[in-house]
Amino acid sequence: MGKQSSNLVMSLGVLVLLALSGSVAGHWGYEGEGGPDHWAETSPECAGSSQSPIDVKTGDAKFDADLKDFDIIPEITEDTATTIVNNGHTMVMTTSAQVLVSGGGFPETYKVAQAHMHWGSNNKVGSEHTVDATAFPMEMHIVTYNFEKYSSVVEAEGLGPVLGSGDASGLAVLGIFFSLSANDNPQLEPLLAHMDAIHAAGSNPVTISDFHMWDLLPSSTRNFYRYSGSLTTPTCNEVVAWTLFEEKNTISEAQLNRLRSLHDDFDAPLQDNYRPVMPMNGRTLTASFKTPSYEVDDDDTSIEDLDGGAAQTTVTVLLPSLLLSVLYRFM
Ligand SMILES: [Zn+2]
Repeated sequence: MGKQSSNLVMSLGVLVLLALSGSVAGHWGYEGEGGPDHWAETSPECAGSSQSPIDVKTGDAKFDADLKDFDIIPEITEDTATTIVNNGHTMVMTTSAQVLVSGGGFPETYKVAQAHMHWGSNNKVGSEHTVDATAFPMEMHIVTYNFEKYSSVVEAEGLGPVLGSGDASGLAVLGIFFSLSANDNPQLEPLLAHMDAIHAAGSNPVTISDFHMWDLLPSSTRNFYRYSGSLTTPTCNEVVAWTLFEEKNTISEAQLNRLRSLHDDFDAPLQDNYRPVMPMNGRTLTASFKTPSYEVDDDDTSIEDLDGGAAQTTVTVLLPSLLLSVLYRFM
């Protein structure tokens, strides 16, 4: 072996090390040198073309009759409990119950892995997704993975050894917006009562028996938006079928302040832990319902009554075949 080839071996070694450090995403946050603008430096997929979150432009959402009702079924026992941790980026909730998610346009069953929140330093920001350019003070994500294809959420993210990144059917995340209310939301109380115990990042987990993440689903999950996107944190894997429920839950300012009292890895207030919206880049947004601003193409004269059953059929037929192929790819 000449000098040149040993240099090549060294270069490859450096490349492998770089790739490994990229896959664990290094140190990241929401501002400064570790902020979203710099994520792609260590996690190249963060610069991909199908990133999340997005601004939901309700007028652009295409009605899709295949987006049927969700079945979200927790197998609860007397011992079912929730464990909460502060991981320095958010508060993560896990449940001891097996929770299966089916329907919602998915031909396969997903299993809940964890849930977490994104919130702001003030009431005007906090959610990752926005709706017609409006942010909400909090957004909850229930992260589920394809139970039929993968044995764990890490594998479904494409970080595991079995299937590579880029398989879009790995994860389904359910997003719930919380709008500001003058009144405390009693559903949140059993959870927020424990913020002092997880004040510092990396505090010991706390297990609570009187709170379940599915209690925070909106009262109706019938109306939702769907698009194909990514994890909103490094490594930004583009493997997520996103669901955003139209109906919101609520939170009061006093309750938000208890979340805002948590501290991050730098012992600074854990706030504004949301990624800015990313471009759609030609992706299609669909909806399980006809949005209030739903409009028929100007050049189409066959749909006169949007509320009629006949019109519904016509709209479905109008769905471009490209959209259908994208939908089936990540289902
Ligand atoms: Zn999230």
